[in-house]
Amino acid sequence: MDFTLSPEQQEFQTAVRRFSEKTLLSGAVERAHSQAYPWDVARAMSSQGLLGITIAEEDGGAGGSLMDAVIAIEAVASVCPRSADVIQAGNFGAIRVLAEYGTGFQKEKYLQPLLAGTALISVGMTEPEAGSAVTELKTTATKDGSGWRINGSKIFTTHGPHADFVLAYVRFGPGINGIGSVLIETKGEGVKLGKRSSFMSDEEWAEIFFDNAYIPGEQLVLGEGGFKRQISGFNVERIGNTSRSLALGRYAYEEARNWAMQRKQFGRLLCEFQGLQWKFADMRIKLDAAQMLLYRAAASADTGFPSVMETAIAKAYCNQVGFDVANEALQVMGGMGYSKESLVEYCVRRCRGWMIAGGSIEILKNRIAEGVFERSFPQRATSP
Ligand SMILES: Cc1cc2nc3c(=O)[nH]c(=O)nc-3n(C[C@H](O)[C@H](O)[C@H](O)COP(=O)(O)OP(=O)(O)OC[C@H]3O[C@@H](n4cnc5c(N)ncnc54)[C@H](O)[C@@H]3O)c2cc1C
Repeated sequence: MDFTLSPEQQEFQTAVRRFSEKTLLSGAVERAHSQAYPWDVARAMSSQGLLGITIAEEDGGAGGSLMDAVIAIEAVASVCPRSADVIQAGNFGAIRVLAEYGTGFQKEKYLQPLLAGTALISVGMTEPEAGSAVTELKTTATKDGSGWRINGSKIFTTHGPHADFVLAYVRFGPGINGIGSVLIETKGEGVKLGKRSSFMSDEEWAEIFFDNAYIPGEQLVLGEGGFKRQISGFNVERIGNTSRSLALGRYAYEEARNWAMQRKQFGRLLCEFQGLQWKFADMRIKLDAAQMLLYRAAASADTGFPSVMETAIAKAYCNQVGFDVANEALQVMGGMGYSKESLVEYCVRRCRGWMIAGGSIEILKNRIAEGVFERSFPQRATSP
């Protein structure tokens, strides 16, 4: 058994880190505190082949593995945590589902601008009454000629106010089998953004309303019966969230480690107090353990989709570890950790969100328990 990256992977990691230090280091703090989508970063990444790492070469990607994409997102986050979101959007999110299931027309019209870093796609699953219970979604797709009429709304959509298209989960009929997905252009007729709000992370979101929005037949991605395939693609998105949780926890840890080696109190360096040394030992143990779970899950995918169970285990653990480590790093840095001078407080706020987004820790543990007992545990209340 070998726990090290291959020479090619190490070379790739070094190259991405070098690009990040040259292009992203300056402005990393400002970028984290801006609500605007960093389009300049997206274009720079596109020119380096960092968007579409796992997408087939014939579709305009690099034909790499999910592990390559994880290496890239980690390397970018270690220099500019906010820019890791661009790697997420260009590799792990809805783009990957589009590349997997999209038609030639869809790849030409929607995938190409995403790969060029000139367009952005969001995934619209969550609705006001369908959060963890996503299969209870109510947004409908009703046949109209050769296309569909979409009615309903989505909330909490990452990048919603900035996205050009939404890969929306919609209902063609009753039950899980009635769910599929369509591509909806956000500037299209019948699509409206509600009041803008923001998360604790300062990321903006707004309810997206579909009021009899017409989509032509060519914008159907997965029709009735497509839900399970859609969710297996969604596990790639989960690996991206997992990677960023761990990478931001590690970023905060490195900041705190450097701080502890130069900040003096009581005439001694902070790293010389045993009370703080043990905090660092605990952080390091958690980061190392989480890293192995992440790499195991990512490696399970190769160029396909990752294992459901291994992804759930990695995400539940890395989400918790990323937050715990970033929070502990903030404590070690005292007032400076809590201040916006460094990105440690940002890492805490971002990591907190991934404990909820993309399958909350509790929902992932439900899934893990099903694997443990090799049976399903329906969460829905049975009718009296
Ligand atoms: C930062 C962020 C980004 C997001 N981005 C997107 C996005 O891009 N697209 C999108 O569609 N959605 C997105 N979401 C929404 C996210 O997927 C939902 O918030 C999540 O699924 C939880 O749904 P909810 O908020 O309605 O909470 P609820 O489902 O109401 O759950 C509330 C609490 O109860 C727990 N809970 C619920 N059911 C169970 C159960 N059966 N067993 C144990 N515990 C349970 C949950 O874990 C949670 O702690 C995002 C959310 C956040 C915070």
